[in-house]
Amino acid sequence: MCHHESAENYFLLRVGAHRSLESTMLKTFFEWSRSQGFGATCALVFFVGAPSLARSAEAPPQVEGFYTRGSLQSPSELPEVGPGLLRLFLPRDRGFGSSSLVDLIESVAEGLSSAYPVGERLQVGDLSAEGGGKITRHSSHQNGLDVDLRYFAKDHREQDPQGVEGFDEAFVYQGKVTRNFDLERNWALLSSLALSGKVQRIFVDEAIKRKYCAQKRYQTPEGRETLRRLRPYPHHADHLHARLFCPSGQTQCESQSEVPEGSGCSSLRLRAFPWVVGDSNLEH
Ligand SMILES: [Zn+2]
Repeated sequence: MCHHESAENYFLLRVGAHRSLESTMLKTFFEWSRSQGFGATCALVFFVGAPSLARSAEAPPQVEGFYTRGSLQSPSELPEVGPGLLRLFLPRDRGFGSSSLVDLIESVAEGLSSAYPVGERLQVGDLSAEGGGKITRHSSHQNGLDVDLRYFAKDHREQDPQGVEGFDEAFVYQGKVTRNFDLERNWALLSSLALSGKVQRIFVDEAIKRKYCAQKRYQTPEGRETLRRLRPYPHHADHLHARLFCPSGQTQCESQSEVPEGSGCSSLRLRAFPWVVGDSNLEH
């Protein structure tokens, strides 16, 4: 796990965050991290979590309104394939998002494929329609800040990108995470999203959050912050839904209230075992 935050790490991160240097830096960065005894997850989180210098130039207006009542101007389009990335449901034509979202998905996908060279690509479901607004199957996904991602699976299976019927495997059965759910790679995915500084909420099935709580992932600050962002929500057994904060400079974007501090694991425990009174180990 990732406990170490020295000045050298931070410096390297800042350098690695520059978009034009990302691909060349990525491998070196992982090699360096490994030589320092960090795991791949840790290195990935450091890399993805760094702010992009290229993005800080004045941002044109893109995001308007709220997640469930909004629109998208001058959208960026996520490529159908990219390093470590496969877009699904192509006939739906919902690969559009804010540049902030598209950049994040590409960085996370590339980082994960370097950290875990064996395995399926990150499979990306709907972002938004080209101009945003209401689309079928979703109440949100309207302003270019929401994306659905398939969970990583132990069998490394990829869906047919031409399919339009939705994610084709549930990873929670009778309230338990299935054996095909890849705990390590999914944790790396969730952490890299949550620690990017761009993601406010990640909707997952409750069983998934419960599993990571049971593994005591809240014991490190990074783990606690990742768990904090995981919001249990029905209908997320086959994919997670990441929702970005309003990007800076997007003044037409309506923000949502911040999630509470703490991992949220204690309240999950209390819900599962309501007869346990006076849980001394309150929010992590
Ligand atoms: Zn969604």
